[in-house]
Amino acid sequence: MAYVITDQCTKDEKCVEVCPVDCIHPRKDEPRFEEVAQLFVNPVDCIDCGACVPVCEASAVFALDDVPEEAKAAIEANALYYA
Ligand code: SF4
Repeated sequence: MAYVITDQCTKDEKCVEVCPVDCIHPRKDEPRFEEVAQLFVNPVDCIDCGACVPVCEASAVFALDDVPEEAKAAIEANALYYA
């Protein structure tokens, strides 16, 4: 599986701070941070720990199976960032 960040993301990096495997990007110190509207989970590296979900004040992070219908495009968008 993998967790997915949707377009409710405010790029506050709360998830980045708790992710144990550093699979959420871009971080503020990375070149693409300003150019993207949201952060993305690397679906290959994500270990499904769920730590990013409760810290997200925008409720923008979902387990793959729980991504709302209207936000399904985010699944591909997260993967594409790392393609
Ligand atoms: Fe990182 Fe865990 Fe969230 Fe996956 S579920 S993005 S490993 S904090």
